[in-house]
Amino acid sequence: MIHALFDAAANGDRKALARAISRVEAGGAEVNALCGALTPRRSQSPGAPLVVGITGPPGAGKSTLVNHLIREARSLGQRVGVVAVDPSSPFLGGAILADRIRMEEHSLDTGVFVRSLSSRGHLGGLSRAAGQVVDLMDTAGFDLILVETVGVGQSELAVCEVADTVVVVLTPESGDTVQTMKAGLLEIADVFVVNKSDRPGAVKLVGELEEAVELDGFRSYAAPVVATSARDENGLDELVRAVRDHADWCAGKGLAEWRSRRSSGRVRTYLDLVSEHARDQARAGLDAQADLRAALEDGTLNPYVAAEEWVAE
Ligand code: GDP
Repeated sequence: MIHALFDAAANGDRKALARAISRVEAGGAEVNALCGALTPRRSQSPGAPLVVGITGPPGAGKSTLVNHLIREARSLGQRVGVVAVDPSSPFLGGAILADRIRMEEHSLDTGVFVRSLSSRGHLGGLSRAAGQVVDLMDTAGFDLILVETVGVGQSELAVCEVADTVVVVLTPESGDTVQTMKAGLLEIADVFVVNKSDRPGAVKLVGELEEAVELDGFRSYAAPVVATSARDENGLDELVRAVRDHADWCAGKGLAEWRSRRSSGRVRTYLDLVSEHARDQARAGLDAQADLRAALEDGTLNPYVAAEEWVAE
């Protein structure tokens, strides 16, 4: 039954895809086996589909920019899948994000499929699920897959790592975020966007980011910094070009780096799955042993000792 569902989803049946994604969200051995049997085009080479991660603080303008990228891809006749993830707010954020995209101009377009993922309590499961949804959408033949996550903390960046091209969206108000997260952002961003460039401070932030990219000797791809105003529709073509340039780089000069990112992705997926499994087991153990939970809650059992004992069992 679930086999047939995954087959239909992989063959492009939208209803089946929606239901298969719900199964992926819940996780489990059967889902992992089915996802493991998929043959996404991206496992061979980059570019088809283009998988673009978009991350940035709430209100930075991600949805507005995502809508533009969808519009652009649709004008080329491409099919677009969007996975909206909000690690910080387990039940609502992602859904709201996806609804916002869905409600707008693309709601009736059968060439656009939008889906939110909620974290259901822990993050390992979320990046695992995001990766599996991308694989499903890839197999189903989407040309562009956008993975949108809210925030620029470590967990959001980890979710974005399923993408080949990561766009970090900031605004002139993001100065503090840039200072605290600089290393993490530089490590992952393939394109920086300073959106709301119609506001004061944008030029300064663009300069700071450009300088940081230049000083960073670690990455072989120098992430461009694109100033956009989604409100005034400025810089949007430059954003599309910057994403394409990076995708072209992945398929050409940057192929070795792309492969190495995919390799680390596979290792991370393995760790995500194993830790998700261990956590589920430990949780089931707690549910089954009320005395163990009570002892942890009232402090008669030290959590460090209890965890070590559980691992040793
Ligand atoms: P998200 O939370 O990152 O998805 O942000 P949204 O795309 O929902 O945008 C948040 C708010 O900022 C909305 O009210 C947008 O209309 C507004 N906004 C988006 N882009 C711009 C921009 O370039 N300039 C200005 N001034 N406002 C913008």
